[in-house]
Amino acid sequence: AIVLDSVEFKYDGQCVISTANVEFTEGAVHLIVGKTGSGKTTLALLIAGLLKPTAGRILVDGIRPSDSDFDRSRLQLAFQFPEAQIFESEVEAEISFGLRNFGYEGFGLRQRLRWACESVGLSERLLTRDPASLSFGERRKVALASVIALRPQYLILDEPFAGLDWNGRYNLLNTIRQIKHEGMTILIFTHEIDMISEMGDTVASLENGRLSRCFEVADFLTDQPDESWFVPDHIRVLKYVASAGMGVDQTAIRIEDVARAIVAGISRSG
Ligand code: ADP
Repeated sequence: AIVLDSVEFKYDGQCVISTANVEFTEGAVHLIVGKTGSGKTTLALLIAGLLKPTAGRILVDGIRPSDSDFDRSRLQLAFQFPEAQIFESEVEAEISFGLRNFGYEGFGLRQRLRWACESVGLSERLLTRDPASLSFGERRKVALASVIALRPQYLILDEPFAGLDWNGRYNLLNTIRQIKHEGMTILIFTHEIDMISEMGDTVASLENGRLSRCFEVADFLTDQPDESWFVPDHIRVLKYVASAGMGVDQTAIRIEDVARAIVAGISRSG
């Protein structure tokens, strides 16, 4: 598991992260949601061991991720807009880069490469292409494939939906479900509240650097006051329809279920 133990982080003496004790259990998808500037990227970098807490500690399976003996292949971070960091001139070389660094070659390398492409929905016919010639969505897939190819136990995604259209979002949701199914623990940092209901086992909110504990998604959403920033638009619509007097199932959470609940309400009232 990933454990945050009274973690504090300061930039130039200014405290930007201050958490109580929070644990991200293994094998689940954990969402950390907060507005821009709430500290998501800083916290992601701390958990990945790329920044060190100024107080408290972070432990990944009992080891500090910033320690030199931490096995980096176990935890991978996909930065915000990861496609901006693609540097090889061929897709295959880009996805293989990390694998080669960790000593993979031959059959083992090809197997992981193929699995990574399949997981992100990247056609193998693109492997010989120059990443610069791909669409934005395809480049995002390449960047993600190169991060998951190592099959890390822990995967941290910073704003993975940024810039993707709905097709790209649903592709990514499928990828997340698939790699979770294989036992990976995934931490997703996002400001896109509308995505909370579509994935994720737990949600924690981040406000001014303060991280809440992890809640189950349904509990998190139903406990929010109406005016809360943490209520997705489709749930706002459901609440509005209910308050306007239509009998609807207010336990619906996912976009599709909310749509069904409203359709059922309309056909009952009609
Ligand atoms: P988010 O990812 O939620 O937008 P960040 O982690 O990027 O939030 O930023 C959290 C706070 O830390 C913000 O107030 C931001 O201005 C500040 N911050 C981020 N990076 C730096 C830095 N390198 N130096 C000083 N302050 C920073």
